[in-house]
Amino acid sequence: MNLEIKQKILQKIKEYDRIFLFRHIRNDGDCVGATKGLKELIRATWPEKEVYLIDDDYAEYLEFLGPDDAPVIPSEYCGALGIVLDTASENRISNKNYQFCKELIKIDHHIPIETYGDLVWVEEERSSCCEIVVDFYQTFRDELVLTSAAATYLYTGMVTDSGRFKYGSVNGDTMRAAATLLDAGIDTDMLFAQLYLEDFEYLKFKAYVYEQMQITENGVAYLYVDKAMQEKFNLTLEQASACVNTMDKIRGCISWIVFIDTGNADGAIRVRLRSRFVHINPIAEKHNGGGHACASGATVYSREEMQTLLQEADALVKEYKETHEDWL
Ligand code: AMP
Repeated sequence: MNLEIKQKILQKIKEYDRIFLFRHIRNDGDCVGATKGLKELIRATWPEKEVYLIDDDYAEYLEFLGPDDAPVIPSEYCGALGIVLDTASENRISNKNYQFCKELIKIDHHIPIETYGDLVWVEEERSSCCEIVVDFYQTFRDELVLTSAAATYLYTGMVTDSGRFKYGSVNGDTMRAAATLLDAGIDTDMLFAQLYLEDFEYLKFKAYVYEQMQITENGVAYLYVDKAMQEKFNLTLEQASACVNTMDKIRGCISWIVFIDTGNADGAIRVRLRSRFVHINPIAEKHNGGGHACASGATVYSREEMQTLLQEADALVKEYKETHEDWL
């Protein structure tokens, strides 16, 4: 599938001596894995090329994947090829120097909100952007070199973005991609230990989340993680935001949302929206956000807007439950 665009991307990579990789702000396993994975794929295949991945933002739970490259001056980007992975819209690209690149390629699996880039390869139905990168490798495997390091980066993105191969977007292609990576040699014991182990204190916070979360009339589980809560448990913003996953197993709640006070002067409250069966992304798109059908992000700027968003989500869930039978 998409052979023509893949060939064009391969051609561009061959053409350029200097390549920069980019990903989205508030990075996650998929965008980190995809950028590090593609960088390693290019580096191992064409050792003479200069390939850079520069980003001053790094999620703590992904530090085990190792640091990115040191910053270079903006003029270094001029004349280079830029490849942006896992990023739906231009304003979410974390390293703003992407604009100095001579040409830009977008590779993504989010629902497109806007078009950018000279070459665009988007497959919304893919369970992760890393899966697309593996598809690229599989298509040109006679030419490309997949090291165990690249396989580990890409596998990390695949397992984190698919809920450990749990979501509906996982299909046979996903598993064939995973098999390709496992064949390259991945220390899965170490990888899953890195992904699952939690600090004792963080588990106490999780217990508190279970105590404090609430449910709207029609079954949207939610929690507002205010500054006091973040201070009580000594949480980084990233740790506070991760608690959305603790609300995903409540019978009858087909959507769950966490609001995190960012402490920013503009009053921004980060919103993480998740759902089963019902598509939650239209609500995110109404509030400065977007993402996937069942996993989106947004930003609201007041407690009132938070209430509005919750009411909209509640109405969406109500309508879904009234018109469908097989929700749990
Ligand atoms: P998050 O809850 O931040 O992990 O976001 C869930 C998914 O939605 C991720 O794939 C994000 O990349 C995406 N996402 C988050 N915020 C936005 C946004 N403002 N615009 C578009 N996509 C977003």
